Amino acid sequence: MLPSLQFYNSLTRTTEPFQPIEAPTVKLYVCGPTVYDFPHLGHARCYMSWDVLVRTLMLFGYTVTYVRNITDVDDKILARAEAQSTTPEAVAELNTQRFHEDMQALNTLSPTVEPKATDHIKGEHGMFAMIETLIAKKHAYVTATGDVNFETATMADYGKLSKRPPEAVQAGARVSVDADKRHPSDFALWKANPEDSYAWNPPEGLAFQGVKRGRPGWHIECSSMIRTVLGETIDIHAGGADLIFPHHENEIAQSECCSGKTPFVRTWMHNGFVNVDGEKMSKSLGNFSTIRDLLEHYPANTLRYFILTNHYRMPVDFTPEALDAAHNWSVKFSIFMTQLLPTFPAMAETLPAWEDETARALLQSQLPEFLEALASDLNTPRALASVNGLVKQLRKAETVTEKQSLLTVLLIALQVLGFRVADFLQIDTENGEQQSNRPTLDEFISAFSTALSAEQVALFQTAEAWESGVLALRAEAKRAKNWALADAIRSGVEKLGGAMTDTPQGSSISW
Ligand SMILES: [Zn+2]
Repeated sequence: MLPSLQFYNSLTRTTEPFQPIEAPTVKLYVCGPTVYDFPHLGHARCYMSWDVLVRTLMLFGYTVTYVRNITDVDDKILARAEAQSTTPEAVAELNTQRFHEDMQALNTLSPTVEPKATDHIKGEHGMFAMIETLIAKKHAYVTATGDVNFETATMADYGKLSKRPPEAVQAGARVSVDADKRHPSDFALWKANPEDSYAWNPPEGLAFQGVKRGRPGWHIECSSMIRTVLGETIDIHAGGADLIFPHHENEIAQSECCSGKTPFVRTWMHNGFVNVDGEKMSKSLGNFSTIRDLLEHYPANTLRYFILTNHYRMPVDFTPEALDAAHNWSVKFSIFMTQLLPTFPAMAETLPAWEDETARALLQSQLPEFLEALASDLNTPRALASVNGLVKQLRKAETVTEKQSLLTVLLIALQVLGFRVADFLQIDTENGEQQSNRPTLDEFISAFSTALSAEQVALFQTAEAWESGVLALRAEAKRAKNWALADAIRSGVEKLGGAMTDTPQGSSISW
C-alpha cells in the first residue's frame, strides 16, 4: 500500500490526511507573480516548493489541475511603466516572459492554466460580477469617492486563517486610517482612479451605485480567477507565508461571502520566508537578488538541492556557504553520474518515466522511505537523504544487474524531485572553446599524483569529470582547513598552465 499523503493545513494548523473532493482530480491554485521586475530568489523558493507538491501528487496517482496566475495589474507595474516611459502592458508582458524563462531554467512544471488578472475583470465570474454580488449581499459598500470596500464586520469568522479578528487589526498601529472605511480592517475590492488611462469602466449596474472608473484590489483578482477556472471550492491553495495576511485572509472573505459556501479552500499550504544572509528578503531591504544572478554562479540542480534540503515550511537562508555546500554535492554527484551512466548508454538516453504506476511500484519496493518522506508533508530533506543513501548503495554494488536496478530507481527519484538529470552529465562542458587548452587526463593525473592519494586520483576516471572533481576536492580541503592540500591543488593547476580563482561563490579554473 502507498503511504497516505499528509499535508500541514495553515487553516487548522494541523497535519491532515489529504483527500481531494473529486479524486483523482486535485484542484490546486498557487498565487503567481506580480510581473514588474525580474523574478527573485523568493520566487525560486516558492515555485520550486510547489513544483515538488505537483510532482508528488502526480506520483501518487492524482491528476492535478494546477492553476498559477499572472498578476498583470498593480501599482508597481504602473510605477515601472512610468519610470521607463512605456505602457503597463509592455512591462507586464516583458516580465511575464522573464518569469517563464526563469521557471523553465529551474525545471519547474508549467501550470495547467495560467490566467491573467486583466482577463478576469469582466465576465460571468469576473471581478465586477463578484463585487456586484458582494454589494447585493451587503458584504461590501461603495464609498463617496467611488471605491468599493469589503466590510469585515459582516463576516462572523473573518480572520480565521491568520487568527487576526477585526479587533486585532483595529488595535494594530500599522493600518492607515481611511475616512472612507467603516472599520480599519475593511479592504478595497475596487479603487477608483477616474483620471487614469490604465483603468476600467464599471458596468452600468455598478456605475449606477456610484462605483467609478478604476482598478481592482489585489485580493479580488485571485478570488475571481479561482472561481472562473476552478470553481467555488478547491482542494489546495498555496503561496508564500507572507501572503497569509492580508491577501489570503481576504480571498477567503470575498469568496466565501460571495458563494455562501464554506470552505472555499480545503487545505492552505504556505512556504517559509527567504532570508539573504539572515534578513528577510525583500526589495526594500536592498538585498534583492534575481534568479538569473544566481544561475550565473550555480547550476539549477545546485539551487534545487539547496532549496530542497530545507523543509518547505522552514525559513531558508541564502548564504554563500550554504550554496557552496549544495554545489559540492552537485559536483560530486555529476562526477559519479558521468562515471556510471556511460556503462548504461540506453538509460542515459531514455530516462525511465517517473510519474506512472511502474515508477511508483519501483519506488515502493526499493525506496519506500522516499515515498514516506514525500507523503509526510513533503519532507524533502528526508527524501534527499534517502537518495543519498541509494547513491552509497550504488557505489558498493558489484553486479551489472544490481547497478542497473539501483540506477533506475535513482533516476526516477531524482526526476520526482525535479532535478534535470541531463544537466548532471554536462556540468563541465559549458565553456566550449576554452576547453581546447585543457590538459589531457593523463597530464592532469601526473601533475597531481604527488598531492593526491590513489583513491582521490581514481575519482577522476574521465576527462570530462576531472576539473569538477578537482574543484570539489579543493573546496572540501578548504572546509576541513587542510591548507596544504588546497595549496597543492592550486599549484598542480598552475603547473599545468591554468589559473585558480577563488571567489565567495566558489573557485574556478581558467586555462
Ligand atoms: Zn493570490
